[in-house]
Amino acid sequence: MKPAAMKALDRQRDVMIREHLLGRGIRDQAVLNAMREVPREEFIDERFREDAYGDHPLPIDERQTISQPYIVAYMIEALELDAADQVLEIGTGSGYAAAVLSRIVTNVYSVERLSGLAHSARKRLELLGYTNVVVHEGDGTLGWPEHAPYDAIVVTAGAPNVPQPLLEQLAIGGRLVIPVGQSADEQLLALVRRVSERDYRSKQLCGVRFVPLIGSAGW
Ligand code: SAM
Repeated sequence: MKPAAMKALDRQRDVMIREHLLGRGIRDQAVLNAMREVPREEFIDERFREDAYGDHPLPIDERQTISQPYIVAYMIEALELDAADQVLEIGTGSGYAAAVLSRIVTNVYSVERLSGLAHSARKRLELLGYTNVVVHEGDGTLGWPEHAPYDAIVVTAGAPNVPQPLLEQLAIGGRLVIPVGQSADEQLLALVRRVSERDYRSKQLCGVRFVPLIGSAGW
């Protein structure tokens, strides 16, 4: 990339942090640092690179999307992460949110149902040196039992209900952030906390619009 184009992206990244994240109340320093560090332009098609830090989602392959930066930051902040947490992401997509998570915690497990996206995200994360992210191709509505329990689970696609396997794979004290709604493209973001072996507490955070979570415990 030409130096002038890189400078323009640096400026846009500053605007993203200052106006779109800090300006809307994101305060978790670890989240802000990670969002500043991860080069979002590397996770999207060249055609959209100039707009990499724009305040909106962008298209990626297979008719999917990379989420709006503010929503990525908001969901990750809501997870109240600790550096030692084991995190599961459902919906790897481009791998961007997984890369942001990987700057905050030691281990990130990410599941993607579309093999093309799983493959390209895995390759991209490897090339960029995000060695603490493992990408698995499969139906994320079933979670990833091998590495459970998780201190935090984030679902980046909209579900009709909270999938039971994800509740079961949450550690006691663990947090799950998931868009839930009866319409396939409009949801409410829910934060579910596992407070004991059998009890969960749930609250609604805000309205969101995600592509559908497709699978045996999804659409
Ligand atoms: N986190 C991604 C990023 O940073 O680019 C954005 C994810 S995109 C909004 C939602 C993703 O969820 C899509 O890639 C889609 O294929 C995936 N998805 C939908 N249903 C899924 C399922 N059951 N298991 C795993 N991934 C799923």
